[in-house]
Formats: sequence, structure tokens, C-alpha cells
Amino acid sequence: LSGHPKQELPGQSLDVLLPSAMAAYHTDYVRIFAQGGQPSAVLGKVREFSITHKDGRIIPIEMKALDLGEHEGVRYFGAFLEDLRPRRRMEEKNAALLTRLEQEAMTDALTGIANRRAFEAEAAQMMARAQRSGTPVAVGIADIDHFKIINDDHGHPAGDSVLRTVAGRMIDAARATDFVARIGGEEFGLLFPGTRAETAVSIAQRIREAIGASPVLTEDGCEVCVTISIGLATMTPGMAVEEALAAAACALYTAKEGGRKRVEM
Ligand code: GH3
Ligand code: MG
Ligand code: MG
Repeated sequence: LSGHPKQELPGQSLDVLLPSAMAAYHTDYVRIFAQGGQPSAVLGKVREFSITHKDGRIIPIEMKALDLGEHEGVRYFGAFLEDLRPRRRMEEKNAALLTRLEQEAMTDALTGIANRRAFEAEAAQMMARAQRSGTPVAVGIADIDHFKIINDDHGHPAGDSVLRTVAGRMIDAARATDFVARIGGEEFGLLFPGTRAETAVSIAQRIREAIGASPVLTEDGCEVCVTISIGLATMTPGMAVEEALAAAACALYTAKEGGRKRVEM
């Protein structure tokens, strides 16, 4: 564990294995304990420490140290050391895995943008912040027009490819502070912080125009013309996120009824 050959350690001071910061006070600790000065915080317990490898590396260890008593005038102590590196590696792997899972739980697998869960969390946070600061927030639902026909005409994989392109164009057209998520099949949620109604309408128009600006090229080389409709609502103080979304859904319905490829507040 320490990198020292077996025959090298017997007879040497324990300091050989101790990191220098600990070596500095360890001898005193042992002496005071041996003189009966203070109870030991180490003996009989399992504790985590480090030792220094022969090559200078610090190795985390778990140690159980024991008082072995006196024998022919010599006081003996013993210790079991366990290499903690495998456990540390496992902990790091688990932490990385957890981070990835948390990220995946918030990400839409098809488009790679935020998903509904992330949208709801962000909306709640944004609302709370807006209420504290007294600034307006606008909420939007963007829905691809006649997406069923796109699927029927070009196939489901082409439909998927359209969803990916639309997601990307929305993110590009929105401002950096806006939040865009895929909240359903061909539905996207929009959050515009610090934005009053007229500005929200013009940003939404910009997003809508960006989607329709040029045909979407699918992976199999088809050009598909895509338009979207957007329903908007402003969140008033004390309003629940669901209420604002319901109002946006209402506006979306109006946009669809009014002939699609339009924005309604
Ligand atoms: P409207 O203009 O009224 O919104 O009409 P629409 O056809 O877009 O609306 P409708 O809700 O009737 O159809 C939505 C379609 O979206 C039906 C469904 O098969 C398709 N869809 C949902 N999720 C996915 C997906 O992940 N990939 C693909 N390719 N299609 C999807
Ligand atoms: Mg829909
Ligand atoms: Mg649709």
C-alpha cells in the first residue's frame, strides 16, 4: 500500500508513512497519550486518514488503531489500514452518474433541449423571482401547424427531424434570457422573463418567422415547409404557473382557429 518493500519499514518511525502536516504533531500526540495525559480520539475507532506513498502520493485510508498494551516494558499499538481509493473512485463515479441522470431527467431526448419537467421547474422559479422583483413574465405555447400531415406525408423519422430543427431555430431566435422547452409531442413552452405583453408578442413573432423562414431539410433530403402558431399570456402576481399556461393554451387555440401561423396574446 505504501510502496515500501516489507523489510524497509520495521524499526522506522511512523513518520515515514505520515503526511508531513500530521507527522508534525503525531509524535506529541502519542507521547501525551502514553503519559496518560489525554484519552485517544483514534484508538479503538475506525477513522479516515491519509498516508504518504513512497513516491510522494497521498493515499486516503481507513484506519482502525488498537492499543495492544505493554509487553516487557514496551508499549505496543497496532493498526489495520484499508486503501480508500476504490471506494473514492466509486463515489466519484456515482456522483458523476447522478449529475448525468439529473441532467437527463431535465432534457428532451429527441431534441436535446429542456423537457416539460425542466420547463415547470423553471417557470415556478421565474414566477417566484418575478413576484419578488415586481417584473412581468410572459408564457407561451408554440405548436407546429398540421404536424400530423407532415408525419403522414414524409414519415415519422422526417417528423422527428423537423422537431429537432424547429427546437434549434426556436433557441436561436429567442433571447439568451428566454427559456424554450419541448413540453409535448409538437408543442414547445416559452418563458420570457422581465417581458411585458407587447415585447412578448414581438419576440414570439420573431420566433414564428424564424421557423417558417426556410424549409426544413430532413435527413433523407426532403424539404418541408413548417409553420407554427403561438399562444401567449402574461403572468400576473399570485397567478399559478398552470393558470398562465391555460391562458396561453387558450390564446393558442384562438391562433389555430384564426388560420394558424400566427401569434395570439
Ligand atoms: P394543429 O395545426 O391543429 O396543431 O394540427 P396538428 O396536426 O399539428 O395537431 P395534432 O395534435 O392533431 O397532431 C400532432 C401530431 O404530432 C400527431 C402525432 O403523431 C405527432 N407527434 C407527436 N409527437 C411526435 C414525435 O415525437 N415525433 C413525430 N414524428 N411526431 C410526433
Ligand atoms: Mg399539439
Ligand atoms: Mg400541432
